[in-house]
Amino acid sequence: MKVQFLGTASSFPTRERSHTSILLRYGPEAILFDCGEGTQRQLRIAGESPMKITKIFITHWHGDHVLGLPGLLESMAMNNRTDPLEIFGPGGTKESIKYLFQALHIRPNFKLSVHEVDTRTSKLAINTKDYAVQVQFLKHRIPCLAYSFKEKDRYRIDKMWVRKEKVQGLPALAKLQQGQDVTINGKKIKAKDVTYASPGKKLTIIFDTAPFADLAKFAKDSDLLICEGTFSNKLRDKVKDYGHLTVKDAAKIAKSAKASKLVLTHFSQRYKDVSELKKEATSVFKNTTLAKDFMIVNV
Ligand SMILES: [Zn+2]
Ligand SMILES: [Zn+2]
Repeated sequence: MKVQFLGTASSFPTRERSHTSILLRYGPEAILFDCGEGTQRQLRIAGESPMKITKIFITHWHGDHVLGLPGLLESMAMNNRTDPLEIFGPGGTKESIKYLFQALHIRPNFKLSVHEVDTRTSKLAINTKDYAVQVQFLKHRIPCLAYSFKEKDRYRIDKMWVRKEKVQGLPALAKLQQGQDVTINGKKIKAKDVTYASPGKKLTIIFDTAPFADLAKFAKDSDLLICEGTFSNKLRDKVKDYGHLTVKDAAKIAKSAKASKLVLTHFSQRYKDVSELKKEATSVFKNTTLAKDFMIVNV
């Protein structure tokens, strides 16, 4: 998994920070989490084609997370995109997209599937053979979802055995990787004898929300936890009705979740220098990094 931060600002963009968007490269897929204003341009600067985006996960319909969406969809339509696109979001997403298309006269030639994730019936946004994406309903001023992208566990084949038996390139190897027993050269091979389990990686993205206990459960054992850290903890009382986390709140979630790494983003424009925020967070959770636009994290 390759994660790139396209925008790391909160309500207002700054000279250094664009509005929120995260690009996940996973195999042949390019997946966006949120699409704040300026995302198209940030993609261009990062050397990524907006036409390659396969899925977009929207956390919520506040402008700093979605104002780049109409422009991106219009560019896709104008460039005669034919590849299908899937958009996921909270309740109301279908209607919002319909209005965008109406207001801006966007007529896509490609198939667009919009999925509203109903957390009352399902906590799973999507389940493919390679990964599943789970959601958690957040405590914000409007419906807002956190996403957890979990790669499926895989079986890796023992390379020594492959070399010894000279079985390279056989289609049977793919079956073994899926945990199925096979027959090679008349010999029955049990998957469990020649493979070992390799746990899939977990990426969790949490913004925007007030703190609450279930967040650590949702982020449990994440290899990478990306969390909003809009404010310093010095403003904890002042911002308690804003529905946001302080950097210390985020670090506490990472610690309770036993995450491997925390990256903070979505910073208020008031913090020109974020080194104080870093100190606050690392006092609770050591392996914390503060995101910058275009920063890449490999998971
Ligand atoms: Zn926001
Ligand atoms: Zn918001």
